Amino acid sequence: MPLIPKSHPRAKSLLIREKLVNGFDNGLVAKEGLLAQGRGEAFDYLLGEKTGKAAKQAIQAAAAQLLLAKIPVISVNGNITALCPKQIVKLSKQTKAKLEVNLFYTNKKRQQAIIKTLKKNGAGEILGTRLASSTKLSGIDSARRIVDKNGIFAADVVVVPLEDGDRTIALRKAGKTVITFDLNPLSRTSQTASITIVDNVTRAIDLLIDESKKLSKKNRRILQKIVNDFDNKKNLAENIIQIKNYLTRRARVA
Ligand code: ATP
Ligand code: MG
Repeated sequence: MPLIPKSHPRAKSLLIREKLVNGFDNGLVAKEGLLAQGRGEAFDYLLGEKTGKAAKQAIQAAAAQLLLAKIPVISVNGNITALCPKQIVKLSKQTKAKLEVNLFYTNKKRQQAIIKTLKKNGAGEILGTRLASSTKLSGIDSARRIVDKNGIFAADVVVVPLEDGDRTIALRKAGKTVITFDLNPLSRTSQTASITIVDNVTRAIDLLIDESKKLSKKNRRILQKIVNDFDNKKNLAENIIQIKNYLTRRARVA
């Protein structure tokens, strides 16, 4: 008997929470990761818990950017592994992106739990644990500055789902194009990334996989035009307007 009945009005959100709580119990997710989810959920409420038009545009630009990349890398952490391990592996295969484990609250046991889960879900090589190929990214204080020479360090495009602002800024300063999923259009990550998908990663990731598949049939000129036409600042503003309009509708008394 499932703990959360499908008929519960917040069933979807509760199921996502359950995935994170299980991830925490299995050593994948840090305590702080649970809080990060809560911050995201609040913004999901304000977005009406659906993928908006602006998010769909960002997804299209992200897919084009990933397909154009020379060395695309997806940075994985505990939350993303607990929420959508299958999809993250699928996205890496679809876009030929490498996977690299990179944690804010680093810990060998957690690193291994993440790798084990991703491998169970079909991942090949996962970078980020070999001391011999590790190097430092300047501009970050936390353990996350340690990156793989053949992964994030060499990458031109890095996907950082559910990221902290400091790291996004450091990656940008290092000249990387940064793609992120972040429900909060106001966060430093959202504001500093090159392409911000303002949506719940559990909804947006399948759309990104589909879009990457669709766009893989297009030539590079078309992909480049999609990227050139995308303006992250404008897109973030559209997301904020979406929240404002949603709140205005909800604020109507009659
Ligand atoms: P920043 O450091 O970028 O200013 P922050 O300090 O406010 O952000 P963090 O805890 O560092 O927040 O990062 C977690 C981010 O992940 C939050 O902005 C939150 O909105 C986002 N987030 C959490 N869960 C999800 C999810 N399921 N889908 C998309 N975004 C999420
Ligand atoms: Mg932060």
